Amino acid sequence: MFALPDLPYRYDSLAPIISERALHIHHDKHHGAYVTALNTLLEPMGHTSKPLEDVVIESSRFEDRKLFNNAAQAWNHAFFWMAMSPTPQRPGGNLAAAIDAGFQNLAGLKLAFVQAGVGHFGSGWVWLAADQIGALRVLSTHDASDTLGHAGLTPLLVCDLWEHAYYLDHQNDRKGFLEAWFDTLANWDFAGAQYAAAEGRGPAWRHAPPMSAPAASRAA
Ligand code: FE
Repeated sequence: MFALPDLPYRYDSLAPIISERALHIHHDKHHGAYVTALNTLLEPMGHTSKPLEDVVIESSRFEDRKLFNNAAQAWNHAFFWMAMSPTPQRPGGNLAAAIDAGFQNLAGLKLAFVQAGVGHFGSGWVWLAADQIGALRVLSTHDASDTLGHAGLTPLLVCDLWEHAYYLDHQNDRKGFLEAWFDTLANWDFAGAQYAAAEGRGPAWRHAPPMSAPAASRAA
């Protein structure tokens, strides 16, 4: 059984970019529904002791679309909450140097990130990721797809491009949402820790492991 992780901040702390009401619906209803569906699918399969990262990668490999969609969406949303902070930040250290090397400066990265998000057709996610040599990449993925299936890529940040992420507060203005998100909510402390992991300095973020299965289902 995977638990719906609590938000690492108050529901009203990302306003006005993401309102308290939108965050409640997004976290409690959308993310909650993915976690519930994931647990329902895992129950008869007996691999609930595996980390969520493994469930995502294996369900993708075995083309179990239903399990992949719910497992990946559960992981992506948990990562998305971590990728935001109520306190505006700036990138520092090695990450700041990599941004300058790859995009000239933070404004250049913002342009690439917003363009990738605006240009993405339909639902999905826009990511900032680092490869094995520490070079940065901006990429978008469709629907539930994420970077876990891309060997050698470490995600640093992600923004949700599904309409449920922005429609209540920004209606059809995906670009405005992405610009405000990048300027105000991006968690550069978290991204910096992920970048350190990509460079082999410390562990990357992982989803909380599953809770131990109830005795009845362990025996089954
Ligand atoms: Fe979402």
